[in-house]
Amino acid sequence: MLIPRSHPRAESLHIREKLVRGFQNGLVVEEGLLAHGRGEMFDYLIGEKTSKSSHEAIKASARLLLASEHPVISVNGNFAALCAKEIVELSKITGAKIEVNLFYASEKRKKAIARVLKKNGAKEIFGINAKFSKRIPNLDSARRIVDSRGIFSADVVLVPLEDGDRTIALKKFGKKIITFDLNPMSRTAQTADITIVDNVIRGMKVLINTCKKYSREDFTKKIKFDNKKNLEESILEIKKNLRRMSHA
Ligand code: ATP
Ligand code: MG
Repeated sequence: MLIPRSHPRAESLHIREKLVRGFQNGLVVEEGLLAHGRGEMFDYLIGEKTSKSSHEAIKASARLLLASEHPVISVNGNFAALCAKEIVELSKITGAKIEVNLFYASEKRKKAIARVLKKNGAKEIFGINAKFSKRIPNLDSARRIVDSRGIFSADVVLVPLEDGDRTIALKKFGKKIITFDLNPMSRTAQTADITIVDNVIRGMKVLINTCKKYSREDFTKKIKFDNKKNLEESILEIKKNLRRMSHA
């Protein structure tokens, strides 16, 4: 479908198209389309832009990723459909490994996601070879399987659009968690060490550009970031937008 640039919701419709294409290509499941809908609603409320508090969270994330010893980017179907190119770029800049990690696990879908990432320049993809499977505690069956060389031994994990149970389990397992989540009230947003309340499609580009700007001295300094306070800022921004919209 051709969406005219002048359409007031052109950007969000383009994002929807990308996701639908991801669904048709076997990257995204039906449940992923619904999760996107939940995200869209919050994107509407934050004004479909990267807010001041999200910029702060992105700066802290860039420094944490660059300072960490063993960062891993966890990729699910929606993330791959929306940001394949950016995932590979971020991995190259930060030295982070890329691991395919699905809520609704399927070998076929894992392979389709890995193929798209490789097409975009990824050299090695973790999470697709059962030989290296390990379990994280406090999670049920398939959802707890991770790669021993990836998430299992990571110090920092970027887990965008993630379910709360898994985020909590990863946190209990000792990982530092960075997430993109448009809902500042979700369990993932509330559990992570750094929550970027932004659409991955916008936020990933800002995160990449921010990483490019930092020098080695910047990321050896101690990172001061209060996620609870930053989330409160995000909720305040939503309240302000709601007030503005209801007075329009
Ligand atoms: P939780 O399990 O953390 O409490 P949830 O059950 O409300 O959250 P899930 O479906 O488990 O939601 O996780 C998907 C999350 O991803 C939602 O919070 C949704 O707002 C968010 N989301 C969806 N699409 C995007 C996107 N494009 N960018 C950023 N966040 C998104
Ligand atoms: Mg959930």
